[in-house]
Amino acid sequence: MKVLLDNKLLWEPSRKVEESEKFLAITNCMKMIDLAEENNGIGLTAVQVGISKTYFVAELKGSFHIVINPKIVNYGKNKLIGKEGCLSFPGMPQGNIERFRKIKVEFTNERDELVTMKLTKLDAIVFQHEYDHTCGVVCVDRYIVGGK
Ligand SMILES: [Zn+2]
Repeated sequence: MKVLLDNKLLWEPSRKVEESEKFLAITNCMKMIDLAEENNGIGLTAVQVGISKTYFVAELKGSFHIVINPKIVNYGKNKLIGKEGCLSFPGMPQGNIERFRKIKVEFTNERDELVTMKLTKLDAIVFQHEYDHTCGVVCVDRYIVGGK
């Protein structure tokens, strides 16, 4: 498993992980955590390694989480602008992106439990970045001019 470069799948929405696919998804997520850490990343989505399914790994609240079939169920009012890069575009300088500062999310974890989390700041940014990947949206297309 490796992070694919020149990966056309990045612009296509991924398909939901079905019940029968969960075990494989979890196994892949454990490899993806290693891969993210090796590349000094704080998040990695299945589509980045060529698997067009809605799951990712992300460092949230200080440790890596396995996130299957993510949803953002609530957005706070405030936004923030921060620099983001992406392991799929290693040569590209980081750009500014506007994100929601607080979100409430739901996903299935590695124990097949439905998890609800409130995330803020960097945790919220990472989640939104990886969630975007599952929707076929990449940060390089969201870069804005200016910011702080
Ligand atoms: Zn990315």
